[in-house]
Amino acid sequence: MTSQFASLAEKGGLHDCLSYLVSAKVLDVISSDRIQAASVNSSQPLDVIVTELGLMRDLDLVDALNKFLGVSDFDTAKIVSDSVLIEQLGVAFLQAESILPIKTSDELVCLLIADPMNISAVNTVAFAVEKPVHVRVVSRSVLSTEIEALSQTDILEDDGLDRGQTSSSPDDDIGRLQDIASEAPVIQFVARTIQDAVKYKATDIHLEPTPDALVVRFRIDGLLTEMPIAPKAMHAGVVTRIKVLSRLNIAERRQPQDGRMRVAVRGDNIDLRISILPTINGESVVLRVLDKSNIPLDLDALGFELKAQRQLDELAARPNGIVLATGPTGSGKTTTLYAMLRKIMSPQLKVFTIEDPVEYKLDGAVQMQVNPEIGLGFADALRSVLRQDPDVILVGEIRDKETAEIAIRASLTGHLVFSTLHTNSAMEAITRLRDMGVDSFLLGATLRGIVAQRLLRRSCCSCQGTGIEVEQEGEGKTCTECTGSGFNGRRVTYEIASISQELSEGISSGENTSVVFSKAVKNGFLPMITHAGSLVVEGKTTMSEVKRVVDIETQYDA
Ligand SMILES: [Zn+2]
Repeated sequence: MTSQFASLAEKGGLHDCLSYLVSAKVLDVISSDRIQAASVNSSQPLDVIVTELGLMRDLDLVDALNKFLGVSDFDTAKIVSDSVLIEQLGVAFLQAESILPIKTSDELVCLLIADPMNISAVNTVAFAVEKPVHVRVVSRSVLSTEIEALSQTDILEDDGLDRGQTSSSPDDDIGRLQDIASEAPVIQFVARTIQDAVKYKATDIHLEPTPDALVVRFRIDGLLTEMPIAPKAMHAGVVTRIKVLSRLNIAERRQPQDGRMRVAVRGDNIDLRISILPTINGESVVLRVLDKSNIPLDLDALGFELKAQRQLDELAARPNGIVLATGPTGSGKTTTLYAMLRKIMSPQLKVFTIEDPVEYKLDGAVQMQVNPEIGLGFADALRSVLRQDPDVILVGEIRDKETAEIAIRASLTGHLVFSTLHTNSAMEAITRLRDMGVDSFLLGATLRGIVAQRLLRRSCCSCQGTGIEVEQEGEGKTCTECTGSGFNGRRVTYEIASISQELSEGISSGENTSVVFSKAVKNGFLPMITHAGSLVVEGKTTMSEVKRVVDIETQYDA
């Protein structure tokens, strides 16, 4: 399917067009360079850049662009849109791309367009209608009025999204981005994407620019799932909108930025953590959904069996010592510690949490966030907290010897310290702390227990993990509970080492972890792989899921 543009992309598109405008004396060289630079930096449409920078009147630009294309100006009083094509392409797409197909002959499609450099939109239409496409340039304002009139659907309300403060930028070109970010399709897209993420219980929203689209993926139950792709034209507006909502610097597009925002989705406040990273295709955005209503801070709901719950309760009730949760990022270890902590919270205890960042609010606890940029790391924060007369302290992570040593000192002086380590197994935590330079004797004297865990997808109860609901006649249809994946939500698989007197002495005397491991097994320690295996037997998850999540190789060589 060819269009008159097939060759335009090869010629260099924008560059040729700007050269023409300069040679036609409707634009000077400096303005041309500004447009070129703004186009690279903002990926905004040509006509938006030109008119927003005030370089040409929009009708003059329309006239010049049509001349560049070798066509005459279109009489906008005579627009008769092609309702069949509009139905086929969808109003949202027309709106996003600022294009409108009009009635012409049967052999080709005439497309009114605001930005003739938007070759991907032209190609998309050519592909969809399987006919050659000819374009005529019309001003964006005329097009948006026409398309708006077509749209019978109501534009989604702002939906409770905080607008945040729109700080004025010294850079005039950037200031225009704010206007684009406040256009209805952009607001609608951002609001709907967040709503969908909450609906699908996604933990992360990935917005990834490619050379010709904005790819949207959700992390659901630990795996990325592709969502409908958005047009590239939305990209700059969407990123700016997210920056405005999370009070980030919209003028900064070359440095990574982190922020937070709170939005209301169906009456619930949803907190989002934002990370923006400049890439070769523009800024890539990841939004971590911190949906408190979704997090069961409850050992039972997390999937700990009764016996394990009792073991964890006993650990949390110790007056002092160190309790560790281990596993890779995203294995739910912090959530487990929170669930343990929540059960012992009382007005008689002073509880601190030191995190990076604070993920859940815990009533009754004093929570602080580390900030390495100002020299407040875990070790510094822990040292300060110890001067605040604490009973129980949750330290987000032990990353270095310094933090480990302060944690040990704290537990020796009568405090109960919860923390996490990135190790595969419970026993590996002992090796890791020794490798950091922690003294074996002190480790044995303070370590109370280690829980190692992973999150496994639960087999769907409705369809027994088949993804297919069997109806009366024996006919199957896709299970609505799990949308055919066979999985619904996640649960933990784990191993819990409670450090007995015997184990503690072994650790203190420098015993090899494999010896500690054998002793633990003799005392009833169940390795994670055994626990995961029993979940498979009980039909609570699948073998392939266990193989995906549990690193079977490293399970035994602690
Ligand atoms: Zn199902």
